[in-house]
Amino acid sequence: MKRVLLLQSTTGYRNNDFLAAANKLGIEIVPAANYCHQLAPSWGMRPIMALHFDQPERAADSVLREINGKLDAVLAVDDTGVELAAQLAERLGLPGNPAHAVRRVHDKLAFRRLLQEREFLCPRFHHLQAGEDPRNRVPELKFPVVVKARRLSGSRGVIRADDAEALVRAVNRVRAIQSRADRDAHALGLIIEDFIPGREFALEGMLEQGTLNTLALFDKPDPLNGPYFEETLYVTPSRLPGALQDRVHQMVARVCRIAGLVAGPVHAEMRINDQGIWILEVAARSIGGLCGRVLTHSLGISLEELILRQAVAKPLGIANADGAAGVMMIPVPKRGIYHGHEGQAAAQSVPAVTGVSITAEPGQIIAPPPDGASYLGFIFARAASPAEAETALRTAHRRLRFDIRSEFPVVEAPAIEKP
Ligand code: ADP
Repeated sequence: MKRVLLLQSTTGYRNNDFLAAANKLGIEIVPAANYCHQLAPSWGMRPIMALHFDQPERAADSVLREINGKLDAVLAVDDTGVELAAQLAERLGLPGNPAHAVRRVHDKLAFRRLLQEREFLCPRFHHLQAGEDPRNRVPELKFPVVVKARRLSGSRGVIRADDAEALVRAVNRVRAIQSRADRDAHALGLIIEDFIPGREFALEGMLEQGTLNTLALFDKPDPLNGPYFEETLYVTPSRLPGALQDRVHQMVARVCRIAGLVAGPVHAEMRINDQGIWILEVAARSIGGLCGRVLTHSLGISLEELILRQAVAKPLGIANADGAAGVMMIPVPKRGIYHGHEGQAAAQSVPAVTGVSITAEPGQIIAPPPDGASYLGFIFARAASPAEAETALRTAHRRLRFDIRSEFPVVEAPAIEKP
């Protein structure tokens, strides 16, 4: 029986989908996770269940101390664990991406440097050190710009700024977000880069011995102009002309090659305008949230099953069903405490809608980007054409009502009488 060490994440959407796929394939899962290192021991959990995923060297040491028996692969369920998974695979001599390649594409600054060195279309970018006054950079900037945290995902810590004042506000806010989310925040600093206008697309792919297989190219039909960049719709197949789709594939494949990525899932985001294709991100992971489920029909198996099969060398010819599919990551309209929702049956009854999954838990504090990186849930659709899938998702979304209340009741303070 094949054995896979699976790095599960406490905030992960897909722990269960990976476990179900492993069960189906008869793969033994050796679990590891990032539960709180203070609470986990008191719950009787082993140190392997309380790893700091963002400190891969240290976390890898503890895993290697604890595991016994042969493993066939190490996988992470999402973005949070990919660096650690690569580090472990390398140290155990298992197939996978080199750890340095995964680290480099995960760091937005290192990735920009790579694109620039290799002469890809790349926005002008600047590294703003921790503590450095952003006003000093204003003379060299061309507004609008985008301020970004270095290693976060899901548009967390990404803000557009149109002038010097907005830049200072954005930098302060992104610094605060990064220091809450990343233990190395102080050493990292931020990136400020030119805003690239254009339409946005995403490519989901699988690397096999260095060759990229595109599983889907998605249109992101909602304009993403900022100042915050909440993702909503992904629709496939893309409505881009075939030749342009081929160019996108070739370009992502080239970026993977120069970055040193050779195996496993790839998720890339790009903007396209008159100047060409601008790669925003190439990540050594699969699409986030529950979005991967949108591909189950066209792949003929779940994306998690495909990833597990690839990892343990049980590849499978990929089906390629006709038709279009789409997913909406249900946006968080405002910060607050989620209490519940209405309209699920009505949303589900929209023709072409195949599922509505509300993942927010009552009592959970939720926030839209740039602070939060989770969604209220996901709506899935399958239709004859991308336009129909898109319309179905929008219609279903309009039928949902979410009860989100402010965290602190606003109490009018009594007026202070002046003497
Ligand atoms: P994350 O890894 O958090 O998703 P990205 O760098 O992909 O971070 O940025 C998130 C979103 O912000 C992108 O999908 C895009 O819509 C927007 N964005 C990021 N950088 C730029 C840019 N230079 N110009 C225009 N939009 C951008």
